[in-house]
Amino acid sequence: MSTELIDDLRGSVRGGVAADAGTLALYSADASNYRRIPRVVVFPRDRDDVIAAVAACRRHSAPITCRGGGTSTSGQAVGNGVVLDFSRHYNKVLDVDPHAMTAVVQPGVVLDELQAAVAGHGLVFGPDPSTHGRCTIGGMIGNNACGSHSLAWGKTSDNVLSLEVMTYDGTIMTVGPATRAELDAAIARGGESGRILAAVRDLALDGLGTIRTEFGRFPRQVSGYSLEHLLPENRFDLARALVGTEGTCVVVLSATLRLVTRPRQRQLLVLGYSGTFAAADAVPALVACEPMTLEGLDRALTRMVTRPAALDRLPGGDAWLFAEIDSPAAAESLVAAASATAGFRGWHLATDPVDQRALWSIREDGAGLATRLPGGAEAWPGWEDAAVPPENLGAYLREFTELLARYSLRGATYGHFGEGCLHVRLSFDFGTTRGTTEFRRFLGDAARLVAAHGGSPSGEHGDGQARSDLLGLVYSEQAMTLMARFKRIWDPDGLLNPGMVVDARPSDQDLRVSPSRVPLPLPTVFGYPEDDGDFTKAARRCVGVGKCRNMSGSVMCPSYRVTGDERDSTRGRARLLYEMTQGEVITGGWRSAEVRDALDLCLSCKACATDCPVGVDMATYKSEFLHHHYRRRPRPMSHYSMGWLPLWSRLAAGAPRLVNAVTQSAAAPAIKRLGGIAPQRALPRFATRTFLQWFRARPAGSGRPVLLWVDTFNNHFTPHVLRAGVEVLESAGFRVIVPPATRCCGLTWLTTGQLGTARRVMTRTVRTLDRVPDVPIVGMEPSCTVALHTDVPRLLGTPAAHRTAGRVRTFAQLLVEHGYQPPVLAAKSISQTHCHQHADTGTAADAELLGRAGVDNTAIPASCCGLAGNFGFEREHYQVSVAAAEQATLPAVRAAGDDTAVLADGFSCRTQIAQLTGRSALHLAELLAQGVQNGETRHSPSG
Ligand SMILES: Cc1cc2nc3c(=O)[nH]c(=O)nc-3n(C[C@H](O)[C@H](O)[C@H](O)COP(=O)(O)OP(=O)(O)OC[C@H]3O[C@@H](n4cnc5c(N)ncnc54)[C@H](O)[C@@H]3O)c2cc1C
Ligand code: SF4
Ligand code: SF4
Repeated sequence: MSTELIDDLRGSVRGGVAADAGTLALYSADASNYRRIPRVVVFPRDRDDVIAAVAACRRHSAPITCRGGGTSTSGQAVGNGVVLDFSRHYNKVLDVDPHAMTAVVQPGVVLDELQAAVAGHGLVFGPDPSTHGRCTIGGMIGNNACGSHSLAWGKTSDNVLSLEVMTYDGTIMTVGPATRAELDAAIARGGESGRILAAVRDLALDGLGTIRTEFGRFPRQVSGYSLEHLLPENRFDLARALVGTEGTCVVVLSATLRLVTRPRQRQLLVLGYSGTFAAADAVPALVACEPMTLEGLDRALTRMVTRPAALDRLPGGDAWLFAEIDSPAAAESLVAAASATAGFRGWHLATDPVDQRALWSIREDGAGLATRLPGGAEAWPGWEDAAVPPENLGAYLREFTELLARYSLRGATYGHFGEGCLHVRLSFDFGTTRGTTEFRRFLGDAARLVAAHGGSPSGEHGDGQARSDLLGLVYSEQAMTLMARFKRIWDPDGLLNPGMVVDARPSDQDLRVSPSRVPLPLPTVFGYPEDDGDFTKAARRCVGVGKCRNMSGSVMCPSYRVTGDERDSTRGRARLLYEMTQGEVITGGWRSAEVRDALDLCLSCKACATDCPVGVDMATYKSEFLHHHYRRRPRPMSHYSMGWLPLWSRLAAGAPRLVNAVTQSAAAPAIKRLGGIAPQRALPRFATRTFLQWFRARPAGSGRPVLLWVDTFNNHFTPHVLRAGVEVLESAGFRVIVPPATRCCGLTWLTTGQLGTARRVMTRTVRTLDRVPDVPIVGMEPSCTVALHTDVPRLLGTPAAHRTAGRVRTFAQLLVEHGYQPPVLAAKSISQTHCHQHADTGTAADAELLGRAGVDNTAIPASCCGLAGNFGFEREHYQVSVAAAEQATLPAVRAAGDDTAVLADGFSCRTQIAQLTGRSALHLAELLAQGVQNGETRHSPSG
């Protein structure tokens, strides 16, 4: 059956059909606790492809699960049958009508892309889940998603005008609101559409009383189907009734959406309260002032924020409500209303967009951050978005807190307080049978509690597998029967997303982490202390929230941004690594070809280590994997050529002219071929005199000592960078010394997974550096500085390695910490941040130093230059390397005028910029050295 189905799909669909173990593993999870292995994944190219795919499934009675960004938290985007991924190709905005304020879209379009398409008209699509950078409209329709602005603009169902849908049996219908006459006419036309419409009309008539009393009682009643839209007073709106059906009734082919006018002014008023209960109790009084948002968070959440830049802007208190308003008058009335509520502690009004952004980031990161509790314990979804009518929020929250205490569960609460929707991820123990049983018991008790407060187990994420089997605890038997009847009208054989909403799969089945699965014993080289030394735990850090599928914003993940393929996202890689540890779908452990292929386009840029909310550190996992994968086996040629570059460079330094003559001669193509290097790449020229040769020939300076880390790249290829560094450091009053012996940070062996050699190299380096204790170590090349700062202690784990790491500073950090005032330059610049520096120290010190030097600098939007050490030089990676550079770096460099200096501290970034634009980028030290050469020298540290 499977093979026939797959063959049939391959013969019918043009967009792509994959049934290899790697793809099946990639699509086995969403952002929930569940794991279900599909039989095959289909990537429809267009409408015809969707129709053809469903027809092929029908011929084999194969169940279908539709999928967008796969960010669902309850398991409704995974299934054991055919997964249709709409996000890959079927993802366009088809039409925008600014006058009618509507847009027509394919279901796979990402919300942010729709927003970008309509922003120019001053319009916006109202529902705004926090996954807006990667969630699709199809997924939003599936879940009836919404976000913080639902107070103003409602849920997805409130913003859908009509849907073009297809049933499992192939009937295509356009549905929307209908008058009685229109409905009768459509039924009279007959056919399968007529049958469906008549059946739904009869259902609405038969269930009138139940629907009126049980459905649509409050805005965030997302659990179950929204049958209230079938009521005559709601104009029998089938489009709205199908929103939130989680792919269980129809496949959405396209959607016509209502747009709203973007508010001209936005201000953020933060109200401080003594605690979460007080904040919740205040909600009804504040909602009466009609803010656009009313979001709540508590102290526990702020403790998890890793970059607490905005925390000091929060007013006093232990819980806060974030109210967005569009006028100062609205702020005043809210403050007045808040002042009359118990536990009010103060307020802060953010009018500056930067201030607002910083504050919002606390709330937005919350969802991801809350996946780890203080102390590192894992926290899971399952009961993460229950909602009650807002007037019951305080009472519900108190009893819910007691319930948590009874189950000894922990979690940080936050959410859409204005609509009574509470987010919390809890410390369920899925690793034990007892913990799993308790999970199910807890869900039952929580559902009964939410029902007692008139609420809904889901307030926005949908029911999925986590909550479908709880619906009987909140809905009457009659209501459950109506929902089952609704489902069968559309999908009589139950083949669309079976197990969700109706005919529920038990919530404790298919759990991703389960005591019954024993991971493979996979010894590791790195220690993974944050994951109890357990690589399986490290790999399952990824909770699937999919921030790595965002196409803009942070640096993560450059390879996904180029290919748009789940396999090339951090999440995809983490999934495969996790599946590798389980040994069921991905067999072969460290030798797995599927994992190797998924890691192939990882640039080891380290961005995920910082940008991923739970710190999935793929660069480290890749090193680990490559080490085991190629152990005692031949490696790709580039591992020998570029992995051993420090050694080859040292040898070349004996006769650099000769080496250059050869590498720049007609023999270059053969050399590149041999070394696995892309033919398009120019081989860098070795300097005729290394920095060390220059430095050792000069007299010793005076002043406070600083140890300059002499990295391979600058020493052998661009010694002028290190010389400029010396010049500036000396002008700042430092006495520059260099390591007593030529040493290497081991980075090139690390990234190519030659961890034995990396360890030996690093051990020697640490021993050498430890011979010069108490002297700060300053690095000019960010990748090497970061390696000394983070990778060396991580790999060696010795006290000496940690001591060394503690002394490492970037060039800018050292100068800023020592209060250096550089000569003032009347310069303008743009700067490319090295992705390793982005992941480690950031660029605050660089910005500070440039500011002190009076440089008018614009940072190029966070991005990877695409070269990333050996990656962009490797033959098979050239195209991706260039495409990554084209995302932000190259356009910014091309747009910069001749009077604008291009700053790039990384050797890779400078090389990429030079090779692809012809512009010479400068290291920050070179820019400052120009000032030192031209003007007076100012220094502050005393010798
Ligand atoms: C960290 C985090 C924060 C979140 N914040 C919010 C939030 O603020 N508000 C909110 O509402 N949700 C939130 N969610 C849940 C989720 O991101 C949203 O519901 C989102 O809209 C799902 O979109 P998606 O493209 O990822 O859909 P998917 O997860 O891929 O699919 C969702 C459902 O839609 C169905 N579906 C997809 N395409 C189609 C189609 N063409 N036809 C029929 N059915 C289809 C799927 O079968 C599935 O049942 C959050 C999730 C996470 C992990
Ligand atoms: S890798 Fe990180 S950002 Fe990507 S889905 Fe996993 S947890 Fe989210
Ligand atoms: S290291 Fe960079 S390329 Fe690799 S997964 Fe992380 S963000 Fe993506």
